[in-house]
Amino acid sequence: MLIGKKVCVLGAGIGGLATALALALRGADVTVLEQAEALSEVGAGLQISPNGFAVLRGLGLGDAITAAGLRGSRVVLRDYRQGKPVFQLDLMQDAGLSYFFLHRADLIGILADATRAAGVKIRLLHHITGVDIEPDVAYLTTAQGAIHEAEVLIGADGLHSKVRPAMNPAAPPVFTRQVAWRAVVPAADPSTAVTVHMGPGRHIVSYPLRGGTLRNIVAVQERRTWADEGWNHRDDPANLREAFADFAPDVRVMLDDVQETHLWGLFRHPVAQRWHQGCAAILGDAAHPTLPFLAQGANMALEDAWVLADSLAMTDSTTQGFALYQSRRHARVTKVIDAASRNARNYHLAFPPLRFAAHSALRIASTLAPQLAARKFDWLYRFDATAA
Ligand SMILES: Cc1cc2nc3c(=O)[nH]c(=O)nc-3n(C[C@H](O)[C@H](O)[C@H](O)COP(=O)(O)OP(=O)(O)OC[C@H]3O[C@@H](n4cnc5c(N)ncnc54)[C@H](O)[C@@H]3O)c2cc1C
Repeated sequence: MLIGKKVCVLGAGIGGLATALALALRGADVTVLEQAEALSEVGAGLQISPNGFAVLRGLGLGDAITAAGLRGSRVVLRDYRQGKPVFQLDLMQDAGLSYFFLHRADLIGILADATRAAGVKIRLLHHITGVDIEPDVAYLTTAQGAIHEAEVLIGADGLHSKVRPAMNPAAPPVFTRQVAWRAVVPAADPSTAVTVHMGPGRHIVSYPLRGGTLRNIVAVQERRTWADEGWNHRDDPANLREAFADFAPDVRVMLDDVQETHLWGLFRHPVAQRWHQGCAAILGDAAHPTLPFLAQGANMALEDAWVLADSLAMTDSTTQGFALYQSRRHARVTKVIDAASRNARNYHLAFPPLRFAAHSALRIASTLAPQLAARKFDWLYRFDATAA
């Protein structure tokens, strides 16, 4: 039962705001603490797949997302040199399933407006440096030394969570020997497809944003040298262009437009063993960071948000609600993370005969049995957390 329950959510990212809204809509009295001075997001795109959209629709945001996003039509996998299509997945074959490309800042804006309208208090400039969890109260220490008490604490504080280590042993991440660049370039392209160009040891994903006036780029390269984990390390666009210099001409033209890019290392993190302890729980990247190869990190955070609020609403006991939440989420999240890790290997086949065989099989599958190829993703995209 959530009516009147005082809940503190740490982190105003996609997971934290969606959780705050889901809890407030069920009657909880929610405060969000966020370290940033303003609610904003990095200038980058996001793919919201039907399973994530189902949650946003459940939160009453279906129309706002449809207006701000661009509905994706296809995923096209292409070979790197000539750009020959290898595989195509039709995203519009089922009118009931909607796949959107959104600017991150637009999604955060929509969530923040709805959250405030639902009565949630958002406190900015609250950088939490310490978390101490007891059975019935959690203490959060700010960088200024103030202490906040929380009756119920939800840690939605992302990859470098302070709440996760307060309930789990340290689990060092493993460098995947892959780095990624992100960039957004101006575009005048009416295409509504996600394109993946796959080369040996590298791939590059791009898709349109904001009515096709921008194109979001994520480019991944296998390499032995270390790069820091984190979204805000600038790199010289010349390095990105050089890494993809032997890719198809349209890729090179797109990369010529990159004025600013950021580089970061891709690390594999184990799923947290414990998602809750006493009066606290974790969700989204704080509980289960994933590699970006299936575009599901934010979608999983949205599903978590709904299931957490739903589970807490089913019982008077916070502990039972949290246990129910973890049991409803753990297997699905682990399956998604494993599938994302496998995708990196499939995109980067380096041995030419193996790449030829794999690409031929994909070409045949998408030509002869496109429905069958699409159904491979039913388990992921047709899952509706709000229907359970
Ligand atoms: C290149 C790339 C592309 C991606 N593309 C997609 C995609 O297309 N689709 C998709 O679903 N996912 C995608 N993801 C993953 C997705 O971005 C993340 O999984 C998602 O943003 C996680 O949301 P979150 O709310 O759990 O954490 P975050 O978004 O990291 O939010 C955490 C919030 O907590 C705040 N915070 C952190 N620590 C503190 C503290 N100590 N005190 C106070 N506040 C704090 C932060 O400021 C932040 O606002 C991508 C990821 C990458 C790297």
